[in-house]
Amino acid sequence: MKITFLGATQEVTGSKYLVEHEDIKILVDCGLFQGNISKRNWDPLPLDPKSINAIILTHAHLDHTGYIPLFVKNGFSGTIYCSPATAAMSAIVLTDSASLQEESARRMNEMNERSDHHKAPVLPLYTRQDVQHSLGYFKAMDYDTEFTIEKSLRFKLVASHHIIGASFVIISDGKTTLTFSGDLGNPNQLIMKSPPPLHHTDFLVLESTYGNRLHEQEGDSDPLEELGKIIHQTVKKGGVLIIPAFAIARTQQILYALYQLKQRKAIPSIPIFLDSPMAIRITDLFCEFSNEHTIPKSICKDVFTIAKFERTVEESKQIDHVNPPAIIIAGSGMADGGRVLYHLQHFIAGHKNTVLFVGFQAQGTLGHAILRGDKEIKIHGNVYPVHADIKSINHLSAHADYNEILQWLSNFKQAPKKVFLTHGELESAESLKDKIEKRFGWPVVVPHYLDSFALD
Ligand SMILES: [Zn+2]
Repeated sequence: MKITFLGATQEVTGSKYLVEHEDIKILVDCGLFQGNISKRNWDPLPLDPKSINAIILTHAHLDHTGYIPLFVKNGFSGTIYCSPATAAMSAIVLTDSASLQEESARRMNEMNERSDHHKAPVLPLYTRQDVQHSLGYFKAMDYDTEFTIEKSLRFKLVASHHIIGASFVIISDGKTTLTFSGDLGNPNQLIMKSPPPLHHTDFLVLESTYGNRLHEQEGDSDPLEELGKIIHQTVKKGGVLIIPAFAIARTQQILYALYQLKQRKAIPSIPIFLDSPMAIRITDLFCEFSNEHTIPKSICKDVFTIAKFERTVEESKQIDHVNPPAIIIAGSGMADGGRVLYHLQHFIAGHKNTVLFVGFQAQGTLGHAILRGDKEIKIHGNVYPVHADIKSINHLSAHADYNEILQWLSNFKQAPKKVFLTHGELESAESLKDKIEKRFGWPVVVPHYLDSFALD
């Protein structure tokens, strides 16, 4: 076998790995580049999508699946293998991605029309129609069962619990085994199980997002306690608590935390709104795939009915007229788009209110600006003073920190021939490389974009 790295090299997005065996070519993950490097999605790939026999997905996050509709549009017509929950979630995630791109292109074109009539129209990377077409190529596969792609090339998905549907992808040509960790889950997440141990692989492609960080250094004690404290403070002030939250896993964790706090009578009964159509659809899937997380099936529906689900734009607007105290959970998680922006416009200038961040805020996002303490922020072209209290809880990350990664690696009974570190900034990947070499003495590589390695 041979592997070529087409993304997530010294960066955290765009996961795409080409695996070749004789004349068979497969891609593991087909992710979108996001943030500052999103322009790279428009560059042609150094391979012909028509020549790829199959895609295997580790999980549904956009940085692992978001390039699929374009790949299909450009000629891919093989099978996209993934777990049943990943297939269900990908449909939601990709449709949302297409909607955002269509909307953003429409807005840019309107702006261009107002300023300069000669600019070429801005196009979305793909449309909802492209997504619909690409969903026809998905094939849901059971966990822990070996499937043959072609000839002697086989693969198996093992539930990894980073998010629901997430899998380790284990590929074998009969002689050599190649394992992809996908994203490695945080064993202390409120609702996901710990990543299970693996004992043997010849080659390992491992993520390194938190290769130089520890969750406990981020200043939180028990996240439930922290959340309870913040809610009490907001209630005492008679304000509104706004929680920008990612739709997958993070929102459901927050809802479960609120449910538990309420059961323990640790917080008063106040209105809770979930205002994110995508998070609502993902939340519905959680009860469908209840063996993939730790919320007992018997209470799954009750847990999520703790919040009032706001599906329409009209319902969303009505929330801002609620009598405080209240809690509003809305996307996006970094406040760089979505309905949370409208609630921030309404509430961020109020001294009684609180904004609580529950995830990583990338540079350049509104969430990052608010969290670093900007006194004024700009939303939809208008400036707002920040008078609300700004808080954060970082302990709910969906990624293992470096101690947890090392702990997971210690389960291997035999040293891999090589470990490839991807899905981490250079500093983070290099730091993890150092730690793995020191602790285990295994050969570790931090590949560059387009690097290829023979696996034998
Ligand atoms: Zn992920």
